[in-house]
Amino acid sequence: TSKQRLLVVANRLPVSAVRHGEDSWQLEMSVGGLVTALLGVKEFDTRWIGWAGVNVPDEIGQKALAKALDEKRCIPVFLDEEVVHQYYNGYCNNILWPLFHYIGLPQEDHLATTRSFQSQFDAYKKANQLFADVVNEHYEEGDVVWCHDYHLMFLPKCLKERNSKMKVGWFLHTPFPSSEIHRMLPSRLELLRSVLAADLVGFHTYDYARHFVSACTRILELEGTPEGVEDQGKLTRIAAFPVGIDSERFIKALELPDVQYHMKVLKQRFAGRKVMLGVDRLDMIKGIPQKLLAFEKFLEENPNWRNKVVLLQIAVPTRTDVPEYQKLTSQVHEIVGRINGRFGSLTAVPIHHLDRSLDFHELCALYAVTDVALVTSLRDGMNLVSYEYVACQESKKGVLILSEFAGAAQSLGAGAILVNPWNVTEVASSIGYALNMPADEREKRHHHNFKHVISHTAQEWAATFVRCELNVTIVEAQLR
Ligand code: UDP
Repeated sequence: TSKQRLLVVANRLPVSAVRHGEDSWQLEMSVGGLVTALLGVKEFDTRWIGWAGVNVPDEIGQKALAKALDEKRCIPVFLDEEVVHQYYNGYCNNILWPLFHYIGLPQEDHLATTRSFQSQFDAYKKANQLFADVVNEHYEEGDVVWCHDYHLMFLPKCLKERNSKMKVGWFLHTPFPSSEIHRMLPSRLELLRSVLAADLVGFHTYDYARHFVSACTRILELEGTPEGVEDQGKLTRIAAFPVGIDSERFIKALELPDVQYHMKVLKQRFAGRKVMLGVDRLDMIKGIPQKLLAFEKFLEENPNWRNKVVLLQIAVPTRTDVPEYQKLTSQVHEIVGRINGRFGSLTAVPIHHLDRSLDFHELCALYAVTDVALVTSLRDGMNLVSYEYVACQESKKGVLILSEFAGAAQSLGAGAILVNPWNVTEVASSIGYALNMPADEREKRHHHNFKHVISHTAQEWAATFVRCELNVTIVEAQLR
């Protein structure tokens, strides 16, 4: 084959693996955004490198898993439990995730985190080196390597140190914070330097790219140019590549009998009421308590709406073993209980709150039949839920209320009602505005966003990044 080979390196492989006996594994591909994005790009011969999400201490198990994964074009990186604990739970999720979302370090174990910082960062570097070892083992000359997300900020440097000719790109799926936040990190210098070892560095929005460049100019005292950052004559290109969704998959799903059935049931269930929808992982960054408080204020101020509107909140459990997340769960439950107690009647409550995920068909049906989607993220790299909602609203033309702190606000701002989720008064009045919006305005706004969602797909996003990475390297080769 003459297709360009592409090695996609991400913390997690797009599979879930279950072990049956000593040398047998059952694999299931997961259909996350990245997978559909790259499945749609036929011009590359793609291989995946990452952790399979399971601990496999024995060699027989490792060999069997590698063999099974090979059929799915996946290559495993094996991490032992202690590394996973320090690198993944520790440095990635306890330090980088909250910091990149402006939440700060977890309050309760603030000092403990400070104390264990160095050992967690060491584990992070060690884990990134393990990823690099696997990449090196499978790399063939001319391959393009695409590293993903905050888990692998150290990887570009590990790869380039070994082979300076390797084409390396790195993309961040979260926000990149202001340099004033980034400079709190004890490892601020090393992280920036290692990302800069890549040829191309990508972010969802122009703002995140700008924050990254100013971190490099202020913290590393390097020169920022319109194309990127220059260090001793070497230019690292930095640009925004906003991700999209596989909009076709959603639009087509709406025709399926199963989805149609779910739609019918939902319509009957909520007949005579307007339905607002929230779909979020139950994470601090999603601003779920803020959303509930705004809805409460709306009900308080608009008694005539009390029996005519319902909020369906899907809160997908995440990191349920972490105390901060457990606290958030009970906080959310308490607010939901209070609001339902205050404004419920014998036959109906204003909030339906579910602590679970939905399958794809149920989710599509919900997206299609609801009148308003309410996204109140306090920070969010992009927020694909808002894209998916728009994709499913061609017939209903519902309203999207969208936090200005989600990356999606920069692309769907023209059609959505943008809000500051911290301003409960503003969100409450936006709810009223959305519920009362005349059909022609809804149509105009929806049309704006729909056009964007169907023309900026995940497939195009992936293809653009990789083509850009290839061109960047060609340009550099010519300059040399
Ligand atoms: N999602 C899902 N099942 C659910 C609810 C949501 O698979 O029950 C998916 C949803 O379709 C979307 C993703 O989870 O693709 C959430 O992505 P988003 O960018 O909105 O937020 P993230 O969870 O990545 O922070």
